[in-house]
Formats: sequence, structure tokens, C-alpha cells
Amino acid sequence: MAKLLSAEKALNIVLNNVKVLKKEEVRLTEALYRVLAEDVYAPESLPSFINSAMDGYAVKSQDLRYARQEKPVILKLIEDLPAGYLPKKKVKTDETIKIMTGAVLPSGTDAVVKVEDTEISLQNKKKLVKIFHPVEKGENIRQIGEDVKKGELVLSKGKTIRAQEIALLAALGKDKVKIFSRPKVAVLTTGDELVGVKEKLKPGKIRDSNSYMLEAEIINSGAIPLSFGIIEDRKKTLKNVFSQAVEKANLILSSAGVSVGEYDLVKDCLLEMGLKLKFHTLAIRPGKPLLFGLLRNKPVFGLPGNPVSSMVTFELFVRPAILKMRGENGYSLPKSEAIIGEKVVKKKGLCYYLRGKLEQVNNKWYVKTTGPQGSGIISSLVKADCLIVLPEEKTVVNKGEKVKI
Ligand code: AMP
Ligand code: MG
Repeated sequence: MAKLLSAEKALNIVLNNVKVLKKEEVRLTEALYRVLAEDVYAPESLPSFINSAMDGYAVKSQDLRYARQEKPVILKLIEDLPAGYLPKKKVKTDETIKIMTGAVLPSGTDAVVKVEDTEISLQNKKKLVKIFHPVEKGENIRQIGEDVKKGELVLSKGKTIRAQEIALLAALGKDKVKIFSRPKVAVLTTGDELVGVKEKLKPGKIRDSNSYMLEAEIINSGAIPLSFGIIEDRKKTLKNVFSQAVEKANLILSSAGVSVGEYDLVKDCLLEMGLKLKFHTLAIRPGKPLLFGLLRNKPVFGLPGNPVSSMVTFELFVRPAILKMRGENGYSLPKSEAIIGEKVVKKKGLCYYLRGKLEQVNNKWYVKTTGPQGSGIISSLVKADCLIVLPEEKTVVNKGEKVKI
């Protein structure tokens, strides 16, 4: 038998066949978790003026050279300056202006003394400020451009916009940003045994869980799900719905009907509709019967029907495809290593993805399987927080071995 396609090669094929979507411009408030489609240069410096980093007194540091605890320097208070206003007076020798955090540094001053380090007194109804220690020039002052310099590249294309990126864009006055469009992902659930989640179960029927899981995964990957409901195992109906999906979506996912059973019609339908098949069957477990191709230039995945296979193949292949389409820079799953807490015997020639649970003991990460690994067992998926990757060539993995997760 010919060697099956590895997960790694399959992922390359997928990524080579999906394209980054077009750009669009949105209001800043709508940019959260979208991917930046432009390099952003600072149109101005941050801060754009010298200002106080503290509530205190703006001073000439020279005046305080000889200030001591037992011999404080006494300055005349000439003005109160809140944030958002300009000082009216210029500070001369032995004078000071009370200043709030963020207020413009008055001309003539070069440092701010914290309120806590001063004492106020009155003399002939005039306010005096006692200061007990010298200050360095520039102390408690925010300089122009100390955060961002005008013209600097602040955010690069491909960056995912989080709350902190929104803060920076707002501070720089960017109320609109160019981002990549979100993929619309069609979900077609096939199978005569399926009923909706609210329906009563009749003998032989099961509830469709894949479409709910897949829609959650799509949202979780930053895309928009388009549900095409449950579709009967009938070629005419299937073709009809695939046609609609190709019109409306950027990416099409079908669930089930891609194995080699008599009612597994998805592949035949797609081929008859002109699918350019890229692969079908991979050297992986679960998820071996995964199908991928292009239908009228749109990428199509035929995901296996078993709930675990469906979710695992989504994680391994569909999520990276969506990430690329939405403009992200990196597409791969986060990878790490752990020590496996049990012996696993496996079939040679298939890469296994076992449902695992991580635990940290004495600064080391250990991983164990979460129970039965049948591809229909959702409960062991629920207990899992990672996938344990056991490579194709292995037949046994011993307790205590390092494994990829
Ligand atoms: P198939 O790929 O059609 O051979 O289906 C494989 C297994 O997955 C069968 O046991 C199906 O009943 C089950 N299955 C198919 N579709 C779904 C679904 N949408 N939700 C839950 N289980 C499903
Ligand atoms: Mg079926």
C-alpha cells in the first residue's frame, strides 16, 4: 500500500491553497481581534508635549541644590496648574507652580517635586512651599516621544489587534484602521441519522453535535460561521447545498460522509461538481479520512463525522487555514513538550493525536490521556486540555518519555 500523506505535508498543501482575504477599513471600536492589514506609523509623538508624571510642584532644579531636611528651600507658589490647561506665568528663581499629573511643564522649570515631599505654609496670605531635598533635572517629567516617536513604525501588518493595540491607535488619533476581512465559513452537516439539538430522539437517530462544535471553533478562530443545517445523504440535495455554500462562503466545511461506506457521498458529489481534489486520507488518527480540495477555487474540507475526528482535524488543518485567510502571521498550533505518564502502544504509520491533560509537578510538565480514545468519545475530549502527538514511526511510547503536545 502506498504511504499515506503526513499531517505536515497535508498542512502545507492546505496553506498553499488558501489565500489571504481582501482588506477592509473599520472603525477602531470594531477592530478588536482583527488582523491589521497595514503598517501603522506614528503621525505624532507620544507624549506630544513635556508634562508632569506626578502631582507636585514644578521647580527649577538649580533652586533646590542646597535643600536639606533641617534647612529646606522655600519657594513662592505663583499658580495652580491642572491637567489640560496652559500655565499663565513663567517661573523665575525661587518660584514654583503647583502642577497635576499630565499638565504641561511650565517654562522656566525642569523638574517636579512630589506633593508628599513638600510642606505648605502661609506668609502674608501668600502660599510658600518648603522643599527638603534636591531634585535631579528631568525628575518626574515625561519627555516628548518617550513612549512613541513621530514617524516610528508602531504596529506591523499581520498583528492581531488586542485592547492594548486599540489604546495605542486611539492615543495616536487613528479612528479607522485597515484590517483583513474575516472568512465566512460554511458548515454543512450531513447524515440521515442526525436530528437537531431540540428534537426528540427516535430510534436509530443521534443529535447533531458537530455543527455546534464547528460553529464554535469557527468563531473561536476569528471567522464567521454560515450554517447550512443538516443535509440528508442524497446526492442531489448535497450538490444543491454545496453549490449554495460555494456562492456564499470563502471556505466550506462539510461534516461526515467522507469515509468509504456506501452512504459516504461527499467525495463523489464534490468530484462530480468539479472539485480539484488535493488529498483524501492522511496518516493520522483520529481524522484519517479527511478530504481537502478546491471547488470553483474555494477551499473545501470534508471533515470526518466522528465528533473527535471532526474537532481534531479542525484544529490541525482548518484553524491554520482560517488564520492564514484572516491575515495572521503565524498559523501553527502552539507546541510544547511534556513527560508522558503512561505507556501507549500504537500502530506504525499513523501519527496519533491523543486527548491529554497536563499537570505541573516540581516545575516539570507531565501529561496523561483522559480516558477512552475512540473517535466518537466526546467526554474524553471535554476532560482534555491538549493533544499528545505520537509520531508515525513509533509503535510504543513508554511511560516517562518526552512527547510533543
Ligand atoms: P460518517 O463519517 O458519516 O461515517 O460518520 C461517522 C460517525 O460520526 C457516525 O457514528 C455518525 O453517526 C457520527 N456523526 C456523523 N455526523 C455527526 C454529527 N453531526 N454529530 C455527531 N456525530 C456525527
Ligand atoms: Mg454517515
